[in-house]
Amino acid sequence: MTIEQQINELRRVLNLYNYKYYVENAPAVSDFEFDALMRQLQDLEAENPQFADPNSPTARVGSDLTGEFHSVEHSFPMLSLSNTYSLEELGEWIDRVEKEVGTTEYVCELKFDGTAISLTYENGRLLRAVTRGDGTRGDDVTANVRTIRTIPLVLNGEGYPDFFEVRGEIFMPYASFDRLNAERAAAGEQLFANPRNAAAGTLKQQQSQIVARRGLDCTLYQLAGKHLPSDTHSGNLAAARQWGIKTSEHAAICHSREEVFDYINKWDAERKNLPFPTDGVVIKVNRDADRKLLGYTSKAPKWAVAYKFKAEQALTQLLSIDYQVGRTGAITPVANLEPVQLAGTTVKRATLHNADQIALLDIRIGDMVYVEKGGEIIPKITGVEFSSRNAESQPLEYITTCPECGATLVRYEGEAKHYCPNQNGCRPQILGRIVHFVRRKAMNIESLGEETIELLFENGFINNIADLYDLRAEQIASLPRLGEKSARNIIQSVAQSVQTPFHRVLFALGIRFVGETTAKYLADHFRSLDALLKATREELVEAEEVGEKIANAIMDYFADEKNIAIIERLRTAGLQFEAEERTTASDALAGLTFVISGSFANHSRDELKALIEAHGGKNLAAVSANTSYLLAGDKIGPAKLQKANKLGIKIISEDEFVELIGRVDSTPATTTPIQSKADDKETAVADSQPIQGSLF
Ligand code: NAD
Repeated sequence: MTIEQQINELRRVLNLYNYKYYVENAPAVSDFEFDALMRQLQDLEAENPQFADPNSPTARVGSDLTGEFHSVEHSFPMLSLSNTYSLEELGEWIDRVEKEVGTTEYVCELKFDGTAISLTYENGRLLRAVTRGDGTRGDDVTANVRTIRTIPLVLNGEGYPDFFEVRGEIFMPYASFDRLNAERAAAGEQLFANPRNAAAGTLKQQQSQIVARRGLDCTLYQLAGKHLPSDTHSGNLAAARQWGIKTSEHAAICHSREEVFDYINKWDAERKNLPFPTDGVVIKVNRDADRKLLGYTSKAPKWAVAYKFKAEQALTQLLSIDYQVGRTGAITPVANLEPVQLAGTTVKRATLHNADQIALLDIRIGDMVYVEKGGEIIPKITGVEFSSRNAESQPLEYITTCPECGATLVRYEGEAKHYCPNQNGCRPQILGRIVHFVRRKAMNIESLGEETIELLFENGFINNIADLYDLRAEQIASLPRLGEKSARNIIQSVAQSVQTPFHRVLFALGIRFVGETTAKYLADHFRSLDALLKATREELVEAEEVGEKIANAIMDYFADEKNIAIIERLRTAGLQFEAEERTTASDALAGLTFVISGSFANHSRDELKALIEAHGGKNLAAVSANTSYLLAGDKIGPAKLQKANKLGIKIISEDEFVELIGRVDSTPATTTPIQSKADDKETAVADSQPIQGSLF
């Protein structure tokens, strides 16, 4: 791979992880892994400035905008923080600060692990609550925020500015988190991976009553406005407390690097006793005058830095291993542990991923093992304490047959996991597919919980997803704990589910590797199930994000007659097998034809195609004399470029295309943006900006 390709690949992966983290609230990797990739990209960009891009994830705040809320422009940008895991680097940051402003004072604060919020108060009343969004615009979540008891709706005392903002973190205390996940487990719903995701996901709920029940909390850490009471951060925080705003009791003013380090060491140990999640310490320069001198990058203030704690570890004994069978037949070994306290919760189980991981760790029953929590719900085992190993312990032998149905396990080429191939005869696979199908993000058949599905299966009423549409109320009502009312509800929500849009139906089918995002890309590209069914491997990989592995999984799925029979029954039941018509935004491109090639900073290729159609233009697969424009991105196919040059076809960039349609953020309603849209607004704050306090 060339350096440019490496940079592009890192940008693509980081944009995807940002989307999963901020919008879906379901991180794909741990923060530590994300930060390591970000650091790798930062280093490559610094060494190769010719590939600099203002839209790179290194230069932009990860966006939480969902499109489901009214979005509001921030009066002052809400930025991120630069971060480090190393005390040495923190020392270097202090050196840089003191070189610029001389000896100074720092405020050290806990880094609350939740989601950022900006509250606006007008004449002492809460006017608005907005998320960080993309740093420039955020989602207006006022109705939800009003339910959080620790946020004052009306301020106390006097002396507050007529109009000001206060920024802070909304988080979920461990007790609320444990209760919420226990409730979700009981209802067969997907669990939140960690309190941060739970807080962010809750804040984006459409029903405020749900938010009110979930026990969110908030600590505010920054005033922003024109007439603030003090010219230091600590002074402003003290004033905010007088007005009834909840600030952290753990913040401290530090006068030297030693005091900063002491604060960090103290809280790295003591945070384990806090009732809410923290992931580091934020070190901020206290005086406004010094902050002004230091300024901002496009993404973060230079006067503050986050020192992030390494994931907490615990040492405990491995008691036994269970092998779980997933809905795709994938086998996941799960360790049963002697219960141990870790990051505010009691841990009894940890994932071991696959046979290779077990071999790599050389893990044995009875070993003392290190457990960590990453982005995932289940903690993972990261190492063995060999010094306490029992001399008689034996290496582990991985299972060769399915623990559920006895079928001989297989290992597909290039796959780390073992699979049970008995798709239609292995209980957890059959049940798993049905449970996946009814999930909120799939067909959203809410009234059907995991337990009911199991009951229906045990009683022979359902054996696959198509059977759901043949269910009769009396069958359901005959089951224990289910009366006529729940039977009616279930029948009704199954019937309603036929309206579910095509991309979610595609996701609901449960094709291996076709997650929510891939399903959206496929639906956008092929537009109908019939077109997808007919697609060749070569045509499949034409779709965004679809490589050989996914293409093969789709081919395998459609090659199975049983799946085709199920699909035909779903078709008869009336499910949506076609994408909705794209809405027309304008006729700016009427009569024009486009060929798209390469990858683009701000839109996926399918989004561009949708935009072309929405504005009256036509997409062509190949360059010919009839092509009006070749829309060229990075890594454009050389043959296409050559042909366009030869035929004298006009070649335009993404920006020129956007100019052509006359709008920056236009995406027709039926396309689903996968990445946050770029926005060329400058997020840096000019030093001359007449504000006191600071901005995140
Ligand atoms: P961040 O969370 O590292 O730091 C900035 C945020 O800290 C602020 O926006 C604010 O919300 C919060 N904060 C908490 N306490 C604070 C305090 N006392 N003062 C000031 N701010 C405080 O940065 P980010 O931009 O929100 O997120 C980037 C980080 O998120 C990454 O470094 C990574 O660790 C994580 N992330 C992880 C994934 C993943 O897939 N695991 C994906 C994207 C981002």
